Parts: sequence; C-alpha cells; structure tokens
Amino acid sequence: MGFTAQQTLDYLQSLYEKKLTTYPRTDSRYLTSDMADSLPVLVNVTAKAMPFAAGVPISCDPGQVINDSKVSDHHAIIPTKGIRDTDLASLPAGERSLLSLIAARLLCAVGQPHAFAETSVSMECAGYKFKAKGRAVLHSGWKELDGRYRETLKNKPEADREKEEKSLPLLEEGQELEVISASVKEGKTSPPGHFTEDTLLSAMETAGAGEMPEDAERKGLGTPATRAGILEKLIKVGFVERKKVKKAVHLIPTQEGTALITILPEQIQSPSMTAEWEHQLKEIEKGKTEPEAFLAQIAAMLKELSRSREVVENADALFPASRENVGKCPRCGGPVVEIKKGFVCDNRSCGFAIWKESRFFTAKKKKLTPELASALLKDGRAKLPGCYSEKTGKTYDAVVVLADDGGQYVNFKLEFEGGKGK
Ligand SMILES: [Zn+2]
Repeated sequence: MGFTAQQTLDYLQSLYEKKLTTYPRTDSRYLTSDMADSLPVLVNVTAKAMPFAAGVPISCDPGQVINDSKVSDHHAIIPTKGIRDTDLASLPAGERSLLSLIAARLLCAVGQPHAFAETSVSMECAGYKFKAKGRAVLHSGWKELDGRYRETLKNKPEADREKEEKSLPLLEEGQELEVISASVKEGKTSPPGHFTEDTLLSAMETAGAGEMPEDAERKGLGTPATRAGILEKLIKVGFVERKKVKKAVHLIPTQEGTALITILPEQIQSPSMTAEWEHQLKEIEKGKTEPEAFLAQIAAMLKELSRSREVVENADALFPASRENVGKCPRCGGPVVEIKKGFVCDNRSCGFAIWKESRFFTAKKKKLTPELASALLKDGRAKLPGCYSEKTGKTYDAVVVLADDGGQYVNFKLEFEGGKGK
C-alpha cells in the first residue's frame, strides 16, 4: 500500500476512534479464548462488508488464531462489528485500504488450510547431482480469498508476487531420463536489498531476538507504539532518507548517518544492546530490576568506552566542517563557532558554549541567531526587542547581557534601557 509506518499508525488510530477496529498499539497476532464464541459472527460480518470477499466461501476455525499465552496486553488488531453499519466508501482512502487489509488478514487467518502436494526429485547426470521441485495445489483454501484481495491492490508489492511453482510429471524411483539439452548458466548473487518501511519495522521487531531469553516479553527495538516514531526521527534529524526506487520506497542512510555509524563503538551500534535495554526496562516496570542498578551499569559502560576508545582515523573528514566563526571566546579568546545546537568555543578544553534551545530565549520567544551571538561576544550585550512576557502575554524591549561566571552554563541577564536590571 506504500504507507509509511507513521501514516499506518495514524490511519489505524482514526479507525480505532471510529470504532471500526480494535486497539491499535499491539504486536500480538493472536486472539484470546473469550473471543472464540463471537468470532464466527464477526467473520461473517467482515466478509459481508468486504467487496473482495463476495462469492468466496467463508469458513471460520477460531482454533487457528486463539492463543491466550501469545496475547499480553492487547490482542491482534481485527475489525469490529461496527463495520456492518458503516458505509466504507465514506472513509478516507487510506483508512479504507487499511481496514480492507485488516479484514482480509482476519478472513485468511481463520480460513481453511491451503493444501498442495510437493514433489522433490534428485537426479544424477555425469556424476553431478541435480534437484527439482514441483507443486500441485490440491485445495486452494485461504489463498483463494487472499488472491481476490490482492487483485484489488493497485501496486502489488514485489515480495508478494509469488514465484510460479512448476508442476512435475509423474516420476518413479530409479527411473532413467533422457538428457535433451545441457547448458551452463552464469549468474551473480545480488546483495541484500535496502530496507523498506515494512522490512525495517519487522527487523526492529526481531533485532537481537536470538540473544534474548525465549520468554523475554519485550524483544527487539522499540514497541509497536514507538517504532514508527523512531523512523520518523531518524529521517527528521537527517540520518536516514526515503528514496523511491521503482515502486518501493527504500530507507537509505545519509552521508551523515553512515559517518555516525563509522565512528560509533560497535557495542553502541549493536541492536542487541538496545534490545537488551528494552528488556531490562520491562523488568524495571515489573519491579524485578532496580533502576539504579540499570543506570549504574550504563554509566560504567560509558566510562569504559570513553577511556578505552581509540579515535577513528580520518573521523574529521567524515564530518566536513561548515562551521561559521561568530566571534571571540570571552573566556580564552579562541574562535567561537556555530554548531547545530548553539555556539561553542573551538578550543575543546575551554568549554564555553551558549545554547540555542536555552530557556532564557525560548521563554521570550526569541531566537539566539548567529547575529545576536556575534553581538553578545563582541560587546557583551545586545538589544533584544519584542521579548514575550509569559506573565502578561505582552511584548517588551530589553537588552540582553552576557553574564558569564565561568561555570558550566553561561548565564544571561536582562537590562532595560534607562532602567535597572531585572
Ligand atoms: Zn574559549
């Protein structure tokens, strides 16, 4: 369907609020046993509401989807009976597509098994072994409905296009076959493709799973509610970008993202570390682990890393400097340069820095611009017209004064022209 993870969450939230689907933020794929009795009715209602299900025999085997042990807080997302009284055509297109997908998944999940006969043959020719496999469908089962649903999709996802299974003729053991022709084909294996929104989400879900205890409740990176937001954040800060390749949208690391990964210690890059942290947070939530112990462990790790870490060669080249010199450092006289979050002294041991997101400026709805920083560094003070007052809701003019006492944070003061400081 080509929705981003965030769009999917948004559409789903809206469907939930319209009481057309059940609770959205779950990663369970199962239903609970108390739902078994009402399920056949729901399945019928769902089938009737979905145009693609028209004329397809519907069956319902609740046993295939009910498993109390695989549902923690919320069961799998399914349609509600509310879809009976809703004109689906009146829904926005995105929500309608998503609802159809959820409906199709439910109908397939409780449908009859798809049965096929598979033949596998091994042959020998000129001392080499060859293998062939063939499939013959005996009973189409849930795949019939799945096929009908897929026909309604405009863009069929690539991975879904099933390879055509060849059927094999009847063969007997020990049978001799005639060689009709032989040729050698040369090929190359292709590297794994880039992640799409979809494949990345499931990779996040299972990241580090191999190293976690079997019964760990939370494996992987993030939760169903947060994974989409994590992706959006990576894109927003510029570490990942969306690129459309043919029909699929790929998520590709940017130059900055690659540079960051190059210099980060392996330990911090590893998804299994984050997965392990998520697991421990869950344990803290349940009262099985002390938060202090968890924090101490992280602090020890960071200490060790910063002590033993070797500087990556040519790391500077990975982060090209586009740093604007805005003035002279009041503490050491070194150059002060602009970085993303503020203006810092280029002399690392100095520590002078003024931050763009400081409460002093945001509360007055003012921005610490390079011009303002420059004036403050030059004269120690600068005019600040149009300051917003949180108390009165009005604006006023003032003068901002750099009041640096050499501490960790640089302070600012306000003065009023012709009046006293406040
Ligand atoms: Zn300095």
